[in-house]
Amino acid sequence: MTTANISKTTLAKLAKLGIHNRFDLVLHLPLRYEDETQLQRIADLTPGMSAQVEGEIIHSEIVYRPRRTLICQVQDDSGVLHLRFMHFYPSQQKQLAMGRKIRALGEARMGYFGMEMVHPKCRVTGDDTPLKQALTPVYPTTAGLPQAILSKQIQSALSELELSDTLPLALLDRLKLPGFADSVKLLHNPSPEIAGEALAERTHPAWLRVKFDELLAQQLSMRLHYRKRRGRIAPRLPAHGRYTQQLLQALPFRLTHAQQKALREISLNLDQTHPMQRLLQGDVGSGKTIVAALAALQAMENGYQVALMSPTEILAEQHYLKLSAWLVPLGIAPVWLSGSLKKKDKQAAAERIAQGETQLAIGTHALFQEQVEFQKLGLVIVDEQHKFGVQQRLALRGKGLAEALAPGGCGEPHQLMMSATPIPRTLAMSYYADLDVSVIDELPPGRTPIITKLVSDARREEVFARVRNACLAGQQAYWVCPLIDESETLELQTVIETHQALRAAFPELNVGLVHGRLDSAEKARVMAAFQAGEVQLLVATTVIEVGVDVPNAGMMVIEHAERMGLAQLHQLRGRVGRGAAHSMCVLLFQQPLSELARARLKIIYENTDGFEIAQHDLRLRGPGELLGARQSGVPMLRFADVSEDVALLNGARAVADEMLRDFPEAAQAHLQRWMANRHDYLHA
Ligand code: ADP
Ligand code: MG
Repeated sequence: MTTANISKTTLAKLAKLGIHNRFDLVLHLPLRYEDETQLQRIADLTPGMSAQVEGEIIHSEIVYRPRRTLICQVQDDSGVLHLRFMHFYPSQQKQLAMGRKIRALGEARMGYFGMEMVHPKCRVTGDDTPLKQALTPVYPTTAGLPQAILSKQIQSALSELELSDTLPLALLDRLKLPGFADSVKLLHNPSPEIAGEALAERTHPAWLRVKFDELLAQQLSMRLHYRKRRGRIAPRLPAHGRYTQQLLQALPFRLTHAQQKALREISLNLDQTHPMQRLLQGDVGSGKTIVAALAALQAMENGYQVALMSPTEILAEQHYLKLSAWLVPLGIAPVWLSGSLKKKDKQAAAERIAQGETQLAIGTHALFQEQVEFQKLGLVIVDEQHKFGVQQRLALRGKGLAEALAPGGCGEPHQLMMSATPIPRTLAMSYYADLDVSVIDELPPGRTPIITKLVSDARREEVFARVRNACLAGQQAYWVCPLIDESETLELQTVIETHQALRAAFPELNVGLVHGRLDSAEKARVMAAFQAGEVQLLVATTVIEVGVDVPNAGMMVIEHAERMGLAQLHQLRGRVGRGAAHSMCVLLFQQPLSELARARLKIIYENTDGFEIAQHDLRLRGPGELLGARQSGVPMLRFADVSEDVALLNGARAVADEMLRDFPEAAQAHLQRWMANRHDYLHA
């Protein structure tokens, strides 16, 4: 930034807004616009209307009750309007003296004495002060940085910088987008004839151009990453069918078409000499595990090792049991590795992995943190990828993981990530543009739909009766207690008390308890007993949210459903409805419900399709929260909105590939412009 005419304090304030150079100023676009181009008659004001009025101050005083407030009355030839200022400077009070002619701009509302404006923007005017010709931009700012100064800096940056276009003309013509320089100039200085609505709603072509450029930069960055990976070396692992055919024949079911398609896509990737990075998406219960097992077998057929990691021990253990049942008959014994193993056992397991004695290692991410080195790692499978923290996830996508696990070995391993958080397609396109994505969009046949019931906590006795009947009829049930007040201790207390209460209520049933604080042997014991049907009712914290698969469990009760997010409710509910029996999910809620909670419960009640639920969730919460990125500081889009700007996103995706192929220099210039000071979107 040229600092010649900007004070140090202003520079510091600008930095606070993320403005570090003149181009940042150009991209500091208005939050909204004020209309000072026309005057309203005071008599025509209606509550909620934003308007500018002009009149004479006929009354001005400071009142002290209930608190110090400056109150004025402005009169035009149609009526009187009250102005109120709770915060004001002495200079403002002077400005608003009796007899002055002023213009006030603000939102009208119905006050105690009639129509009023609170903290309107006021200007003293003469008899022939002209009205503004165009809308006035209002910028996002920070305390102590007035609009006027910000606006002046932006205007000078606009006039000094040469704003070349980074998009080739041929593309611009085809996309029917206006030039970049014209667009930003227009947004900072809209001309009088421009419809205020198109500016406010950000549907004006100038806005579209800026949003497109932002999305394009994001896509370019991620596609470049994708391409770079293609330049790296991975072992070629063609399908021989030796193991996979055996397993397919031994299965009691046939793969669904969606599973077959996903498997084909994975299989082709494994047969290439660059590392696969594929995300396998499929709703809860869609059968991702068997696809992963078959992919693992393809790697093993080629003499390579496979690592399968899960976010929780319960899930890792389940995978271990399930895959052992499938693979031991083929002569493959997986090794089980978790953070809570005794040191000696961990070392023994690590030894077997390092020596290449075991072909498949299953465990939690402790498996990777403890620096296990594989002898010949060909494939890494990450289950329930969304459950890993954002930082971990970024590390998983990067080269780091591969290098840590297979140092200097035989090329980089292929990676398969699985997720049941159904990310809406647009969001996936935007944030997973560096991945290949397979989707299992079909559930295995024979599932009966889950009946969802919303029941007020006041009627929990009725729920007891249902649970008892279901269990006595041979079904099994979960009773889930969620995290309360973000406190683990309280959570523990609630789940333990609930367990005691249910045990007392159902003396004829075997009631188990599982939560995150149990040691893993105990957890495993309870889960095994539940799996075997010895425990009929399992009281659990949300540790069972991911992946747990007990087909005979046909009923679930969720306490305090009003406190849970949509994704979590959907995941939990997905634990039932896995067998053919009728299944039911009871959502217990406590009154009063907040508006958001009510909206969530309505959505989960009305929808069973994970993708639809995610789409609603996106609308309710925005992409930042949905992806869990807000806390992690991953930069999100500033102007574009992936749930609204779908067409632009589609265009940007296609144009990114085309630019990298046909206009590499323009692509570089574009990235330079948008990413110069920004962290790489996901690969920081
Ligand atoms: P998720 O995608 O949630 O991980 P799982 O892999 O745990 O789902 O599969 C859910 C259940 O469906 C398991 O019991 C699994 O064995 C079974 N399953 C998977 N594929 C099929 C299929 N094609 N036909 C019938 N059952 C299947
Ligand atoms: Mg699963």
